[in-house]
Amino acid sequence: MLREDELEKLRKAGKIASEVRRWVEGYVKEGMKILDICEAVENEIKRRGGKPAFPCNVDVNEVGAHYTSPPNDEKIIPENSVVKVDIGVHVDGYIADTAITLCFNYEYLNLKEAAEMALETAIKIAKAGVKVSSLGAAVQNTIERYGLKPIRNLTGHELARYMIHGGTHIPNVASLNGHKLEEGKVYAIEPFTTTMEGEGEIEEGETGNIYRILKEKPPKSKDEKVLFEILRKNFYTLPFALRWAVKISPVKNFYDVFGRLLKSRHIFGYPILVEKKKQPIAQAEHTIIVFKDYVEVTTI
Ligand code: MN
Ligand code: MN
Repeated sequence: MLREDELEKLRKAGKIASEVRRWVEGYVKEGMKILDICEAVENEIKRRGGKPAFPCNVDVNEVGAHYTSPPNDEKIIPENSVVKVDIGVHVDGYIADTAITLCFNYEYLNLKEAAEMALETAIKIAKAGVKVSSLGAAVQNTIERYGLKPIRNLTGHELARYMIHGGTHIPNVASLNGHKLEEGKVYAIEPFTTTMEGEGEIEEGETGNIYRILKEKPPKSKDEKVLFEILRKNFYTLPFALRWAVKISPVKNFYDVFGRLLKSRHIFGYPILVEKKKQPIAQAEHTIIVFKDYVEVTTI
């Protein structure tokens, strides 16, 4: 069960995430630098009194998730692209996770529409005791009625304090997963769509410039220990951007030391997730709090 103060923080995070998502919808244009979008989103979150729960993700076309700009990124939003902006906000560790697709190619508008409709359908049937497999079936059916495919190996997820992917997953296809939505818990529901020509699956690609702390115990060598401690103090169990790590690094040879922390598995790097047949992906996402007979969408 959630206390009143916890609900308040969840709602505040949700409101900020929702405001920033709406702002993003009018802000992002073809030809813009992805780095500018990431930094603007993160600043908008802070300006409203929240903190980024993870780096702003800007995923273009066949990239489904986990790309954020590295420092000095020169990449731009290509013309006629399908762009996902995924926004995470936390207030004292209480997280809101929401995403929007910006479709600059009219041919793929149905991808965005299907993802949004699937999300809406899943939210309508969500309440305590509902099997996550029922949500997956609803998502799949909705998307298939558009003549499109869901991405079957990307899922929604439970959100716990300072934990983006805690516990239960919410599938985007009918599955044998026996888990049920529980009262007093928080979940992100996030359908992903691709075309009939797509595989309907993602695979791992190159680095997305997003990392998180993996080990509890600090390393022994001095520079590694100093950097590790400062990263842990700042980001705890939440994902962070390479951009953020460079900025707060107290060590001079940052990239060498960071590389050694990756090698010793003190830090984990997320790869980008790419559609197997390089087909474009759209996404919609909201965060919900589950009550006995209904859910509250914090990011509406
Ligand atoms: Mn998200
Ligand atoms: Mn999510």
